[in-house]
Amino acid sequence: SIRVRFAPSPTGMFHVGGARSALFNWVMARQSGGALVLRIEDTDTSRNRPEWTEGIIRALAWLGMDGDEYEGPYFQSAGAAQHAEALRTLMDQGRAYYCDCTRDDVIARTGDQHKGYDGFCRDRGLGPGPGRAVRFRTPDEGQTTVVDLIRGNPVFENAVLEDFVVARADGSVTFLLANAVDDIQQRITHVVRGEEHLSNAPKQQLLWTALGAEPPVWAHVPVIVNEKRQKLSKRRDKVALEDYRAEGYLPEAMRNYLMLLGWAPSGDREIVPWKDIEAEFRIEDVNSSPAFFDVKKLRAINGEYVRALPVERFAAECRPWLDPARAPWDSYDPAVFERLASLAQTRVAVLAEIVEMVDFAFLPEPPFDEAAWNKGMKGPAAELLAGAEDAYRDAPWTAEELKTRLEAVGTAHGLKLGKAQAPVRVAVTGRTVGLPLFESLEILGRETTLARIAAART
Ligand code: GLU
Repeated sequence: SIRVRFAPSPTGMFHVGGARSALFNWVMARQSGGALVLRIEDTDTSRNRPEWTEGIIRALAWLGMDGDEYEGPYFQSAGAAQHAEALRTLMDQGRAYYCDCTRDDVIARTGDQHKGYDGFCRDRGLGPGPGRAVRFRTPDEGQTTVVDLIRGNPVFENAVLEDFVVARADGSVTFLLANAVDDIQQRITHVVRGEEHLSNAPKQQLLWTALGAEPPVWAHVPVIVNEKRQKLSKRRDKVALEDYRAEGYLPEAMRNYLMLLGWAPSGDREIVPWKDIEAEFRIEDVNSSPAFFDVKKLRAINGEYVRALPVERFAAECRPWLDPARAPWDSYDPAVFERLASLAQTRVAVLAEIVEMVDFAFLPEPPFDEAAWNKGMKGPAAELLAGAEDAYRDAPWTAEELKTRLEAVGTAHGLKLGKAQAPVRVAVTGRTVGLPLFESLEILGRETTLARIAAART
């Protein structure tokens, strides 16, 4: 069985791209009965924050990662001793050396900003000292072939792999070394991570080998781009998983959608039950070209998942948005919401939309939106409202009856029901679109309905 890991650095809000990598790893672990190790790479203390670590752990739990296959979290910062030991091993074997070159020194010698380190200190035999980093001695000849399940097996010429830094002048080890040491220690068999790390793979593979370990199988998953084919970025795009959660995306929908970023199940499906994903996913089938993060598709998928919920669960999922602590009303009536829920369920793509859909029932007055008002109150609106008020005063209070009566009022003005109901809808709900009107009126009750129609007429 395989051992995979997810190794995020807690330097910001947890990103949908990170979530996608975590899920790919998770599915692989589940399929093989292996393990997914969560390793928080928290060694960059200037950029880490505990709340970001907590956000990662919370998000993974929200996406459903737990149980026997899940190990951790481990914290990279706890491994300082083993990182230092690995560094000593490399030194003892002559695979690493001290170097006191500054960047400017190197550029002055090579005359090229982009060329890597020129190996100047390789054989100077420097000992430790202030301002001295440690570099790994890469082979001068031959090739390093990275076995990558997504990208074929890219071959890197060792001659172009520079002698990279493994420990900084302050003694701290770099990402390249800490990450390799931890992967070895945690007996990782497959490294599945973002494409931006592909260029690190040959360097890390050399470290694995130098430290006496059998290198892992790699898989570098494609970048995620927005509709302009730009790499998703937190400045430009909505990338934080928390933000999607806060808008009312369901975890089942989110993880379904994230799995489609680079992978497709059989039969051109978009809604894929998790058990099918676990049965069908193959990391080898992941596409190497960029994956488009299509928010519209995500919304549509979420809507499907929302509609598929049992109505009680839908109502329960809506509760946080209805809570007066967050909603625009001071109190709400759960019994009324229960009746509105089934009407709303088919019309909501993300749960946050529930608020505008049902607010008419919980606000003391319908929300006022001038554009909606002007649109609804066209033509013979005043006559229609007067007619509705008369017709509704003593009507049996059922949706059916309310519809029949308004139909008759409309006919008297030569209008079809669709047009005739517009002023009533905006008078009572403040909006031009929403839940089925007559069911809404039935639930709202005679008194409030008539009061709102009367208020609209003045
Ligand atoms: N901490 C690295 C990152 O978040 C991990 C890279 C890896 O998965 O090897 O980018």
